[in-house]
Amino acid sequence: MFYYTEPVLLLTLDSRHLNLIIALMHIDLHNHTRFSYDSNRSMEETVIEAIEKNVKVFGFSDHLDFNENDPGNEYYNGCMQKKEFERLSKKYEGKIELLLGIEASLENAYSEKVRNAFKKHSFRYRIMSAHFVEGIVISDWIERTEREARTSDEVDYSPYFDSLKRIVSFQEYDILGHIDYYKKYSKFTDHHKTSQKHEKEYREILKKVVDGGKVIEVNTSGLRHSCREQFPSTEILRLYRDVGGEFVATGSDSHKSGDVAFKFDEVYNIIDNLGLKILKFK
Ligand SMILES: [Zn+2]
Ligand SMILES: [Zn+2]
Repeated sequence: MFYYTEPVLLLTLDSRHLNLIIALMHIDLHNHTRFSYDSNRSMEETVIEAIEKNVKVFGFSDHLDFNENDPGNEYYNGCMQKKEFERLSKKYEGKIELLLGIEASLENAYSEKVRNAFKKHSFRYRIMSAHFVEGIVISDWIERTEREARTSDEVDYSPYFDSLKRIVSFQEYDILGHIDYYKKYSKFTDHHKTSQKHEKEYREILKKVVDGGKVIEVNTSGLRHSCREQFPSTEILRLYRDVGGEFVATGSDSHKSGDVAFKFDEVYNIIDNLGLKILKFK
């Protein structure tokens, strides 16, 4: 199903300045549109932005959520999205390769619904992400969990890792999304310390990803938020490589104009320096 590629250098001529510009061939597999409850972009807008930004492979990954207390519950309409996807694939053929994927959340209460949706829609790839902890959306969970704490040392993040462990045990996914996502909402900034404290858990989770033939995602949306760091951090990527990980998927988690392939040159450098390779699809 997968195949893998090294980042490819493209030479393009900027006619205004007559300078040679070296750009990387970008693969952005994590993008939201109005098929997600938290974005109002049309699919076509995102494709046009991707072409402008020299993205060669572009994947839609709208939310698939079944948590009953969440506004995204049962919001996804795969049949309608497929029609628009087919129209755009024809219209932009030769300019960009389009893929129809999904970003699913997982909790025990609705794992069967997730399975059924995967069967019904046959997505080209499935990103699975921990958006809920102890039944609560992660932004609220972090706020509640950190409320009384004065330092990150006083916080018990272990339920978050339980959510990640549930995904890697579930096995029906291709890409584990934004692993250290809790830091997006954390009031603390010493994430390095928290990663070290939970190294054993990260190692266990990453090993299961590798052993299951899956990959992790490098998600650049963290660079747009106060944590100012991609998900996951470079040290977790190093850990992934140390347990045998070779390939990563790259995604911007775009929800609005300007987000597509956000800071990809920066993270492609990090990935390259670690000796990891970028995932592409057949
Ligand atoms: Zn997500
Ligand atoms: Zn997302």
